[in-house]
Amino acid sequence: MSRYIATRAIRGANLIVNEAEALLNKALTEKGPETPVAFPNTAYYLPTILGMTGREIGRLGELTSVLQHAQDLLHPLPTTQCWTPYLGETLDSGMATLLAAEIIEAVRFIYGEEPGSIPGFHMAGGSFTSPEFAGEAGANGRLNGPIDDVQLRAWGIQLVDGRMPGFAAIVGCAKSNEVAVKIVRELQKRNILIFLCGNVNGRSVIHQLMEEGVEMGYDTYIVPFGLDTLSAIYPIGFATRSALTFGGMKGGQAKDILLYNRQRVFAFVLALGEVDDLKYAAAAGAINYGFPVIADTRIPQILPTGVTTYEHVISMPFNEIEGKDDLERAEKLVQKCIETRGVKIKLTEVPIPVPYGSAFEGEVVRKKDMRVEFGGKYSRAFEYLRMVDMDQVEDGKVEVIGPGYDDVPAEGAMDLGIIVEVAGRKMQQDFEPVLERQIHYFVNGASGIQHIGQRDIAWIRISKAAADKGFSLRHFGDILHARFMADFGAIVDKVQVKIITKPALHAEWLAKARAAYDHRNRRLADMTDEAVDEFYTCTLCQSFAPTHLCLVSPQRLGLCGAYNYLDCAASYSINPTGPNQPVRKGSVIDKERGIYTGLNEIARAKSQGKVEEVAMYSIMTSPMTACGCFECIVMLIPEANGVMVVSREDTSMTPAGMTFSTLAGMAGGGLQTPGVMGVGKYYLTSPKFIPADGGFKRVVWMSSVLKQTMADELAEVTAREGDPDLISKIADETICTDTDGLLAHLEATGHPALMMEPMF
Ligand code: SF4
Ligand code: ZN
Repeated sequence: MSRYIATRAIRGANLIVNEAEALLNKALTEKGPETPVAFPNTAYYLPTILGMTGREIGRLGELTSVLQHAQDLLHPLPTTQCWTPYLGETLDSGMATLLAAEIIEAVRFIYGEEPGSIPGFHMAGGSFTSPEFAGEAGANGRLNGPIDDVQLRAWGIQLVDGRMPGFAAIVGCAKSNEVAVKIVRELQKRNILIFLCGNVNGRSVIHQLMEEGVEMGYDTYIVPFGLDTLSAIYPIGFATRSALTFGGMKGGQAKDILLYNRQRVFAFVLALGEVDDLKYAAAAGAINYGFPVIADTRIPQILPTGVTTYEHVISMPFNEIEGKDDLERAEKLVQKCIETRGVKIKLTEVPIPVPYGSAFEGEVVRKKDMRVEFGGKYSRAFEYLRMVDMDQVEDGKVEVIGPGYDDVPAEGAMDLGIIVEVAGRKMQQDFEPVLERQIHYFVNGASGIQHIGQRDIAWIRISKAAADKGFSLRHFGDILHARFMADFGAIVDKVQVKIITKPALHAEWLAKARAAYDHRNRRLADMTDEAVDEFYTCTLCQSFAPTHLCLVSPQRLGLCGAYNYLDCAASYSINPTGPNQPVRKGSVIDKERGIYTGLNEIARAKSQGKVEEVAMYSIMTSPMTACGCFECIVMLIPEANGVMVVSREDTSMTPAGMTFSTLAGMAGGGLQTPGVMGVGKYYLTSPKFIPADGGFKRVVWMSSVLKQTMADELAEVTAREGDPDLISKIADETICTDTDGLLAHLEATGHPALMMEPMF
């Protein structure tokens, strides 16, 4: 143990605890002890204080006892004569520093000084729950402040299930902007979450990334917390809350929380540039959590011995790292960090000109930043994966058939078809839909590319930045080849991709794809929910909607329309620990509404307690939640005693006074909203379509595109319902877009809903 580090950490801790005391006293005088204190968008009070001391701080006056606690942890500086083991004192100082830092940040919130800001800073995407701190406020330069609970859960799940190996807290300023970007890209490539804070002589890694145009925000997994070292308390608060949320610990179980982090959370601190007393003290705080600190300057080290297994401080002076240039040195520095913490990482090299990693999955390409789009309002994009014979696939072949997007004006649209052909000795036709659904996740991994939807309502955008870097159509094929081989190598031996833009061929393949979708939908035709004891869960969308779970039964497919019961079964056979698990129905609670003990239990467990009960067959009581992938939205129209069904492809106004995109905001996000449901369009044809509420006869309005594209299926439904003319009694946007018009149409045609029991 280094006396030098102990001395500087203790000195730093004394300094910051004194500062906290002065600031707290000032606030107590100016604002009074009853002033509320809180971090925004979290139910965990001041999380590090809660975790370490069990105190639920809500008022300024309550901070006095926390300060006292921090003061008790302080130690005198080691003398030059006396040698004692310094580790205990160093760790205590670290803890005192964290408590003091959280006190200071909390007080700053009262004064509106947190989160900090940088003029001109813009946060990419940001959090959907806290626009005032992320998205919009980003416009006036605000940095992030604490991560909100919703985001914590989304990332926490990925940390727990291994999609995200860990997080890196970068403190300070890199040797050059180029090095800063390289470090961040290397981390992103490995899906490591990146937290930024601190500065060296006023310059921060945040400035460096900003100057280089690197997008920061929740969307890109890069969170800029603040320009000073104190904002390192936010990553620590994040780690503390992870233990509380996922480790089932309670506030005050300090030791358990620290151990949980040391054993389960693969995090490290990368200190760039000169390390001052406060940084030493904060580093001592981090090593309490078992997070090693790697510095790119020459400092004394703390190496693990028998006693100090995790208390690492590693020095790796940047200019002494072997490498042909700074970029190679940066790469090695990142490797060293990862080795030190022992993070296990699977790296798939995807040969495209933009960065790639699941860090980019949730990235949004806004219209003004877009070079070209495929699908959406002005064009048609579809994707189709099929199995073919071994000798029909040339592995790695990517063909672009038809023109590229060069001739499309900026922000324009064009038609696109993506055909993936796979072959493999273990491949089965049943696996096709499962693999096809991955296209969404695989394509989204590219920086500057946005993918929404599936099948023939896919919607893909290429950003101007990605286009400038040379991202072309063939790169979709390169991504898909690399990822299918890497992730599904057990069943797929060869992959080839056709990217089709040529109009005649596009139409021909679209028809083939639709025939295949239809065939997949119909395979289940005779299977009923009663005939099986088990349904399937789908948690694939939890990376976007952390509390959402689809329950998939033979007669109710996933709301994206791309995963039905057989697909879930196939997915389970490919990956028994994956997102699709069989779940026993259990005993029946309400047969008509489709409420079962087993389904409730799994819904509760997988929604983190957000959903208590789920009804398979009703929109009015405990309806199933939705992520954002639904093909259609079903919504109660109280005036008409029925429901409307709005297709994702319909951009018109609806009788609810909202368009699809506004409605989507209400239906999604994993919330249970009686009267609103996101569904796969094929569910409309199921005898299990809201039977508890009266079934298909409740449909009073429906986007015309559904009437047209599903005419045959709907004819079967109306025959089954004993009302062959029902479709003409159902209004659509060509007939009316308001309730008055709707009621007039229903009365004129004698729609059955008007005669049915009241819906509520
Ligand atoms: Fe699975 Fe539902 Fe997402 Fe479809 S929408 S991928 S069924 S969770
Ligand atoms: Zn989804």
